[in-house]
Order: sequence, then structure tokens, then C-alpha cells
Amino acid sequence: MSIKTYFEMTEEKVNVLIVGSGPAGYTAAIYAARAGLNPVLYQGGQPGGQLTITNDVENYPGYPDGINGPQMMVDFQKQAERFGTDVRFGLATKVDFSGYPHKVIIDDKHEITANAVIISTGASAKWLGLESEQRLNGMGVSACAVCDGFFYKGQDVVVVGAGDTAAEEATYLSKLCNKVTLLVRRDEMRASQIMQNRVMKAPNIEILWNTETEEVLGKDEVEGVRVANNVTGEKTDIKATGFFVAIGHKPNTEIFKDFLNLNEAGYIQTIPGTSKTNIEGVFASGDAQDFVYRQAVTAAGTGCMAALDAERFLAQKESEETEENEVAQQAK
Ligand SMILES: Cc1cc2nc3c(=O)[nH]c(=O)nc-3n(C[C@H](O)[C@H](O)[C@H](O)COP(=O)(O)OP(=O)(O)OC[C@H]3O[C@@H](n4cnc5c(N)ncnc54)[C@H](O)[C@@H]3O)c2cc1C
Repeated sequence: MSIKTYFEMTEEKVNVLIVGSGPAGYTAAIYAARAGLNPVLYQGGQPGGQLTITNDVENYPGYPDGINGPQMMVDFQKQAERFGTDVRFGLATKVDFSGYPHKVIIDDKHEITANAVIISTGASAKWLGLESEQRLNGMGVSACAVCDGFFYKGQDVVVVGAGDTAAEEATYLSKLCNKVTLLVRRDEMRASQIMQNRVMKAPNIEILWNTETEEVLGKDEVEGVRVANNVTGEKTDIKATGFFVAIGHKPNTEIFKDFLNLNEAGYIQTIPGTSKTNIEGVFASGDAQDFVYRQAVTAAGTGCMAALDAERFLAQKESEETEENEVAQQAK
């Protein structure tokens, strides 16, 4: 094989391309496949998405006894494949939405031209970067109070963060837990005043100002948190069974930023009530466009919307093309 051939881009034309394999992507695939749209889905670097790093999902309807996250995503994939979705390994590395049909490059070497693109690339929680935080992730360390708060009912937990997310997580947890300690790095919060008021009003939230996390304590599960006051240098061990990191999320939307309207945090902006982006034929679903709810069921719901919007878009396109052809025929 010559060097030129080796680096040559392969090309392919598909009808509907789905980028991402979390609840949004697979739900879009189930709907698109059942509608006869022959979807091709690329899984990206985390096949199955965020739920593959959690053990118990107890709030997804249809599983009365809860379900293990990775197993749930295997079920999603099977259901999408059952109706003919072509599920593939691969990462979208570049897009070109300047013309039509749309172009998406996979792994820098395979160019796909698609009539409709559904983006379901999700988001990733930001972490502090501590070794103990990563080691105890899923064993008491969490980035989602709505997902995991229930497991700490009546217990003492620690939340780290100072923005709206932290205020919301702390307030949510205060209704379930015995005590919530909120660690704030500076001597003030960044959260909106209304969110701060809610935190201040909760009798069981204690705020530790000027406080940073040194280490999450515990061998196999969280037993506490070692913190340090960044003014006095004093270190304290707080007893807790849960440690919630609430310092924000980063949507996986970098490759779309030259073409799609993103908000200031990088989330894809959709036309309210739809999955449509500013580019015709490109739809967005799941956490890549949702900075409010960020749940599996809402991701799945918007995945369904994206497939239905794509189906209507393609039907409209087809009828316009038929009309154009008829006019051209008559003109001959
Ligand atoms: C630890 C944890 C526990 C959670 N527990 C719950 C819970 O109990 N209940 C609940 O409802 N929610 C829970 N959530 C939230 C839930 O996981 C998310 O809301 C949901 O997974 C979002 O789905 P999504 O399809 O939008 O994206 P994701 O699940 O984030 O999936 C994104 C997908 O896109 C792919 N991708 C990214 N970039 C590219 C690219 N360039 N090319 C191709 N593919 C790409 C990734 O590989 C991945 O497959 C939890 C989250 C975490 C982190």
C-alpha cells in the first residue's frame, strides 16, 4: 500500500447519522430505525455513555427494581440494533455543515455524507482531579445529586462548589440528608442570589468558606473528607458518606462550534420545543444541549424528538425534490 493510499480518506453516503451512544443516541436510533431511516450510529470514546460508570439506576421508568447502568446501556444498544441500526465504533473528529448534505469525518479518515445528522454527544462532569476522588467514584463520590442523593437518605454528605449547580445540589440534598456541608473555595458564592437564599435558609446546610478539598477519605467507600482552610491553613476531617462534586459540566460539542450556535457554556442551542439547531438537517439531543435536567430519561426523550424531527425534515425534503423534478419534467 502506498503512503498516499494509506492516508486517503474513505467516503460513504448515509441517510441518518447519529453521533453518540448514550440514552439520547440510542433512543434516536430506535425511532429512526423503526421509521425506516437506516441510521448509522457512531459510539464515540465511551460506548453507552455516562451511565456506564454508575452501578444503580433507580429512577429510569420501567425498571421497578433498578438496573445496573452498563446493563441498561447494553439493553438500549440491543433494542436499537434489533430494528436495524448500524452501530459502529468510531469518533466524529470533524464536521462540515456549510453545505448540504452534511459532512462528518470519523477518526480523521472516513468521510460520511449524511442527509440528516443527530448529535447526541453528551456532557462530562468536571472533577477536582484528586486521586481519591477518582478512586472512590461511584463508591460515595458522585456528580449528580438527583441521581444518587437518595442513596444517602438520613446521612451526612459534603458538596463542593460555589455556583448555581452547587447551590441546587446542596438544597436538593438537604431535603434528603441529615446534614450537608458545602465547601466554598472563596469567601462568597457565585450562585444567583435566589439560589444562595435557598441555601442559607436550609437549617441543615453548613457552609465552610475559604475551604478546599484535600482528600476524600475511605478505602472502599467514602468515610469523610479532609479539607483545608486556605486562609488559616487549618485542616479538618469531616465525617460523611457521600461527596458530591458540583463544579459544573462540559458538553462534548467542541467539534461543532464553527457551525452550530452554542451558549456561553458550550451547550448546543436548539429551537425551543424542538431538537432543531441553526443548521437545517442537524438535530441535537441529550446532555449536549441540556444544561438544566441532565437525566437519562430526558436525554432519551430528546433523542426521540430528534429522530421524529429528522424524519419530518427528510420527508419534507423528499416531497420538495419530487415537486422540483415534476416541474422540470413539465418544462421539457
Ligand atoms: C455517575 C453518573 C450517574 C448517573 N446516574 C443517573 C441516574 O441514576 N439516572 C439518570 O437519569 N441519570 C443519571 N446520570 C445522568 C445521565 O447519565 C445522563 O443524563 C445521560 O447519560 C445523558 O445521555 P446522553 O445520551 O445525552 O449522553 P451521554 O450518556 O453522555 O453519552 C454521550 C455519548 O456520546 C459519545 N460521544 C461524545 N463525543 C463523541 C464524538 N465526537 N463522536 C462520537 N461519539 C461521541 C460518547 O462516547 C457517549 O457514547 C448519571 C450520570 C453520571 C455521570
